[in-house]
Amino acid sequence: MSFEELGLSSEVLRAVTEEGYDSPTPIQSAAIPLVLSGRDVMASAQTGTGKTAGFTLPLLQRLSQSERPTRGGKRGPPPVRALILTPTRELAAQIAESVATYGKYLNMRSSVVFGGVSINPQISQLRKGVDILIATPGRLLDHASQNTVDLSRLEILVLDEADRMLDMGFIHDVKRVLALLPEAGQRQNLLFSATFSKEIKQLATRMLNDPQLVEVAAQNATADRIDQQVHFVDKGRKKELLSRMISDEDWRQVLVFTRTKHGANRLAEQLSKDGLAAAAIHGNKSQGARTRALAGFKEGQLRVLVATDIAARGLDIDQLPNVVNFELPNVPEDYVHRIGRTARAGLSGKAVSLVCVDEVKLLRDIEKLIKRELPRIHIEGFEVDPSIKAEPIRKTSKPSPGAGQGRGKRSRDRATGNKPAAAPKSSNSRGGHQRRRGA
Ligand code: AMP
Repeated sequence: MSFEELGLSSEVLRAVTEEGYDSPTPIQSAAIPLVLSGRDVMASAQTGTGKTAGFTLPLLQRLSQSERPTRGGKRGPPPVRALILTPTRELAAQIAESVATYGKYLNMRSSVVFGGVSINPQISQLRKGVDILIATPGRLLDHASQNTVDLSRLEILVLDEADRMLDMGFIHDVKRVLALLPEAGQRQNLLFSATFSKEIKQLATRMLNDPQLVEVAAQNATADRIDQQVHFVDKGRKKELLSRMISDEDWRQVLVFTRTKHGANRLAEQLSKDGLAAAAIHGNKSQGARTRALAGFKEGQLRVLVATDIAARGLDIDQLPNVVNFELPNVPEDYVHRIGRTARAGLSGKAVSLVCVDEVKLLRDIEKLIKRELPRIHIEGFEVDPSIKAEPIRKTSKPSPGAGQGRGKRSRDRATGNKPAAAPKSSNSRGGHQRRRGA
C-alpha cells in the first residue's frame, strides 16, 4: 500500500515524501482512511510504530478541508479546532514538531502548551488563533481556568498514549478537559494507547462515539530488531563498565536508564568526568534544561543521555542506536518501553542491561514477560559477583566477530546457545556484531 492510496491530499503527500517515508506503516494504513472518513478510532499502538503520522496526517487534511469557525462576535481567544493531549512535555514538543513538518504546505496554525515554562508566550499564541493545539493536561487546564483557551468548538480530539496518561495519574485532569469540549458525538475522537486496560476501556466509553477499533499486531519491539544483551556486574563497577563499553565500542549516542533522578544526575556527572559528554534528563530538571539536553543529544554534542523512565517516555530520537539499562526497572513492562527507544521505524538497535546481584529477580520477571532468555555477555576484566555466577551464563569459546571492532581492548564471550523460551526469532544468533548506523 502506498500513501497515495490512503486518500491523502497532494499537500500532505508532498510533506510526507520530503520526510523520506516510502510507504505507510501498518498503523498508518489502518488508521488514516478511518480518520479521513470521520470515524472515531481507538487504536492500539506503541511509540515507534509511526502512530503520530497515523493521526496527524488525516487530522491536518480534515481541518484543511473544512472552514475555520468564526468567533461569532465572542470575546476571548479564537476557538481551537483540534486538540492533541499527551502525557509528557517532551512528547508534546515532538508531536508539535511533527504537526509543523507534516503540515508545512497547509495553512494551519499549530501551537504547543505544557508546564515548566512561562505561560505568557503561550497566551499570546492562543490569542492570535491556533487551529491545532498540542498540550499536556495540567497546563491546558491552567489556560482554561484563565480563559485563555476556547475548546468549546473543538472538531477533533486526540488522546495520545492514554495508558501513560493514566499511569501518570492524569485521569482526573483528562476528565476535566473532556468537560470543556463539545459533546462526544459533536466531535471526532481518536484514542491511542499501547495497552487496553479496564481503565482505558472505561475512558474510551466516556470519550469515544461508536469507535472503530484498530489493532495492529504489536511490533514486538523485543523480538526481532533489537540486539538485547545482559552483562552481570558488581553494582559498584557498573559505571566503569558503562564507560568502557561506550569507549570500546565507540558508541556515538547512547540513552542510559537509571531508576532514580539522583542516580541519573550522579551518573551523568561521573561520565562527564570520564570525558564522555553526558547530561541527565528527569522530572526535577527545569524544562529549559530538559529541552537543551535533548537537543544536544539529538544534534550529537552529547554522547550520553541519562534518563529516568518518566522523562524518557515518548522520546523520539531518530536512529538511536544504543540503549543501556544501568539499572533494571522495577516494572518489567518498563523494560520493553525502555528498549523500544531504539530500533524504531524499522531500524535495528542494541540494548544492554547491566545487572547486579540485587536485580536477578527483576531480570527473571523481564524474561518471563518477553518469553525469552536474554543472551549474556561478559567483558574481560569485569568480575562477576560470585552469587550471580550461578546464573546460566553459557559462554562460547570463539570470540565474537564484533570483538575486534573496538579498539582491541576487550574480548567478549557471548552466550549464543541460549534458546528463547517461546522462541521468537532469535536475535542472539547475530554473534555480537556491533552494528553501526549512520548518524
Ligand atoms: P512515532 O511512532 O509516531 O513516534 O514514530 C516513530 C518514528 O517513525 C518517527 O521518527 C517518524 O519520523 C518515523 N516514521 C513515521 N512514519 C514513517 C513511515 N511511513 N516511514 C518511515 N518512517 C516513519
